[in-house]
Amino acid sequence: MAFEGLSERLQQVMNRIRGKGKVTEADVKEMMREVRLALLEADVNFKVVKDFIKRVSERAVGQEVMKSLTPGQQVIKVVKEELTALMGGEQSKIAVAKKPPTVVMMVGLQGAGKTTTTGKLANLLRKRHNRKPLLVAADVYRPAAIKQLETLGKQLNVPVFSLGEDANPVEIAKQALERAKEEHYDYVLIDTAGRLHIDEALMDELKQMKEAVKPDEIFLVVDAMTGQDAVNVAQSFHEQLGITGVILTKLDGDTRGGAALSIRAVTGAPIKFAGMGEKLDALEPFHPERMASRILGMGDVLTLIEKAQAAVDEEKAKELEQKMRTATFTLDDFLEQLGQVRKLGPLDELIKMLPGANKIKGLSNIQVDEKQIARVEAIIRSMTKEEKMHPEIINASRKRRIAKGSGTTVQDVNRLLKQFDDMKKMMKMMTNMPKGKKKGFRFP
Ligand code: GDP
Repeated sequence: MAFEGLSERLQQVMNRIRGKGKVTEADVKEMMREVRLALLEADVNFKVVKDFIKRVSERAVGQEVMKSLTPGQQVIKVVKEELTALMGGEQSKIAVAKKPPTVVMMVGLQGAGKTTTTGKLANLLRKRHNRKPLLVAADVYRPAAIKQLETLGKQLNVPVFSLGEDANPVEIAKQALERAKEEHYDYVLIDTAGRLHIDEALMDELKQMKEAVKPDEIFLVVDAMTGQDAVNVAQSFHEQLGITGVILTKLDGDTRGGAALSIRAVTGAPIKFAGMGEKLDALEPFHPERMASRILGMGDVLTLIEKAQAAVDEEKAKELEQKMRTATFTLDDFLEQLGQVRKLGPLDELIKMLPGANKIKGLSNIQVDEKQIARVEAIIRSMTKEEKMHPEIINASRKRRIAKGSGTTVQDVNRLLKQFDDMKKMMKMMTNMPKGKKKGFRFP
């Protein structure tokens, strides 16, 4: 998980200071020593760490903390605010050109995730922002990069502009832009050539392309797991090309967080998006405050809600609610609901976005058994239409047939039927409750 190591260390330190009714300078000093170590261990740039500690220390022994009634809490607030500032403060959004299309050059070294991220960005623009993107295959050097982008385009149903491997990348970009204007695309996302290392030829080509298409954004894609290497790469690209933003990929596997916490402070370029997995919907806008909140174990409910809004079909949700109210909720509906929940992404990642989830013993390293959910789905799919509508007709021989059909056991089938029954009973109770009481009902 992202930032796991750093998160744990910082939370231990914060827990010690949280409840304190009085915070002395010595307390702050002691705490800052540990925060410093935690940040260095997370591979944060040493100069960034030094500045950060200085700022937090000054504020923590200042009036705003010492005079407050809850100094422990105030110190934590200061740490959160400074972490947020370190990652750029406000969220930095993708540009919108006054006159479409908005042109985005995607640059980066090979293997950073540039091509995948270009596809993910097209997906995000289309699904969440209702925009019409054109993908442009201008990485003519990496074998199969063009094919890869075309495959992504097909999966996402987004058109890909390509002139093959022999064309000049600057020419490809120019022609793509013409096409986008003619066909009224909102965004042109150019997948440029990557290299193993930064070299002059690469930079020259990118500079020429920049000159030719006058991009509104130049996004550098870097692999968060490479830590300070990513920061150095960003610095070089920024000096030579002038990037407008960074997209950090593989944050899902980055337990340390050094790149995420240093890149903005070192280069001045904002992080605009973060890749959180291999799937095409695993790209999130980067919100410094929410990220700081996640690191300090305060959860990230806003991202959770946005994910739900993007994944859940509102019409269907209303329909389900109606069915629950009238207690006509069937196993088919249950199956459908499971499908919607699964669209949100891996459940253990979701749980970690809940505030305080880390404090509930065992929850932070819970392994949600995706196989168990798949089993439930298989069982329901093995039932006949009638069985799904009226589960009470499922007798012993039917249970055996269902278990066989779904590759499960009769116990599994029994367990599911019992759960479904309990759920229905609970729904009935809720719908029969007087209005005032229902309001107070909360899931634990
Ligand atoms: P390129 O050479 O920069 O174009 O790199 P690719 O787009 O081909 O990506 C390299 C590898 O990184 C692929 O296996 C991707 O699936 C993987 N990848 C990209 N972004 C992410 C991410 O956010 N998380 C994870 N876990 N893998 C990613």
